[in-house]
Amino acid sequence: MYALSRALYKDIAPYITDEHVNGVSADVRGNVLASCEQTMERIADDWRYFNHPDRFLFEQVRAYFPITEQLRVYNLIAKHVERALQVTKTYAARGFKPDGTRLRCRATTRRSTPCMRNIVPGTEYCPSHQHLAEPHFIEPKRVHGPAAHADAA
Ligand SMILES: [Zn+2]
Repeated sequence: MYALSRALYKDIAPYITDEHVNGVSADVRGNVLASCEQTMERIADDWRYFNHPDRFLFEQVRAYFPITEQLRVYNLIAKHVERALQVTKTYAARGFKPDGTRLRCRATTRRSTPCMRNIVPGTEYCPSHQHLAEPHFIEPKRVHGPAAHADAA
């Protein structure tokens, strides 16, 4: 993920403007790089629960780019975020994070501690907690009412 966030930063860095909001003399490039890294890390750790990482990152850094370049910067962010998601999902399908560590079960044990066992690849849970991964296996109560008129035939 480090390589991916570097590649993203290198693509958008040329468009950074030094005339940013309020004339604050912050470390603009450092802030943009840190935002790229945080977003990529969060994709690696939590992609299933990270809605629209591209928009999230763009909102964080857009003030550092001139209005005329913002669409271009957004498209670059979207391209790199998409790539990071693909990489992360490819690893996740085999039960790993992009850094090569194993994905751990998301469940909490009866003692309220994280489960920590290795997941079944392609799911978020270990073999003992698979029932949490498949809520559709819990039979919904049958609804009887006007909508169930197919039975009437
Ligand atoms: Zn578990």
